[in-house]
Amino acid sequence: MKAVAVFPEEHALRLVEHREPAILAPGDVVVRVLDVGFCGIDREIASFRTGSPPADSPYLILGHEALGEVVEVGSAVRRIRPGDLVVPTVRRPCRHETCRACRMGRPDFCLSGEYTQRGIKGAHGFLAERFSDDARWLQPVPRELRDVGVLTQPLALAETAIAELEQVQKRLPWAALGETGGSGKRAVVLGAGPVALLGAMALVVRGYKVTIYSHGGRGGHGGHGGRGGRGEKAEFAESLGAQFVRAEEEKLDSLIDRTGRIDVMLEATGATPEALAAMEHLGRNGVYLMTGIPGRRGAFTLDAGNLLHGMVQRNQVIIGPAHPSAEAYRAAIQDLALFSRRWPGALARLISSRMTIDHASEAFRKPASGLKQVVAVAD
Ligand SMILES: [Zn+2]
Ligand SMILES: [Zn+2]
Repeated sequence: MKAVAVFPEEHALRLVEHREPAILAPGDVVVRVLDVGFCGIDREIASFRTGSPPADSPYLILGHEALGEVVEVGSAVRRIRPGDLVVPTVRRPCRHETCRACRMGRPDFCLSGEYTQRGIKGAHGFLAERFSDDARWLQPVPRELRDVGVLTQPLALAETAIAELEQVQKRLPWAALGETGGSGKRAVVLGAGPVALLGAMALVVRGYKVTIYSHGGRGGHGGHGGRGGRGEKAEFAESLGAQFVRAEEEKLDSLIDRTGRIDVMLEATGATPEALAAMEHLGRNGVYLMTGIPGRRGAFTLDAGNLLHGMVQRNQVIIGPAHPSAEAYRAAIQDLALFSRRWPGALARLISSRMTIDHASEAFRKPASGLKQVVAVAD
């Protein structure tokens, strides 16, 4: 079968002929791949800056954001049947007997750091015609999410951050009075890519007043082929009932003067220095949620003394970036269904293009184009 693979030693990226997956254990499932989304991590792997193949393979099959249809299940599988749509999680346990997290089936909290991640680290990904996996790593998806289920993994990143936010908010003395969720609270989402926009939707449905604060955003997908005026991302934000503010047009202190204290910041820029520096504008008792991983672009300078001083004085918390648990995937699937009802057609607008598996290798080498690009492996 066809698969898209990166060869780190050769510095090559191409379509390969890979062996068909099979049921090797009673808990296994074979999945026919429908859609695979790609993101910045895939581009870093495709340019050989990160990523590692399985120990016995010269290549790594790409793809960690997938939606597929079950074609065959092992004799012990009960929860999933052929014909079901599923989304696979990414991280798999390490082998250490002493890793309590992995032994409990929670590699999202792996203690050894020797977990594998499908399509990223030590295990093949999903950008192939089929893959197999243990049923416990697959989350069922309702049929009505066929066209947008590929957004589950990026939304799960935001869901993880928001679930931890809700735990931290319980420390507030008035949480016991039954004030839950985001009702009346103000959230600023930093960035306007897929994780940012999905995270904004998740915050809006929880009652937060949301502002998306980002550079650019005037044009169409990714700022190219612009329509002028407010721009497509601004229109998208407004259609959610959120506000879109271009960083070029308004500084954060002026935004706060206009709208009030920021209770939550959701960073979804890949942790740019500007987004981290924005922390100084977080309000009292505020929470800063990270979904990006800083540092891959080299060292940068922040006034850490000033930031930490402010954090302690204002009783703030930084969370993340955490790896999504199975629970976060389930929350993402539920939220996708909720978003589809609340904003019909909106999720489909987050997918900027679909291409065939034969054209995927070229697309990985091109710069990001804003919203989610998807390889449509099968119909
Ligand atoms: Zn991704
Ligand atoms: Zn572990």
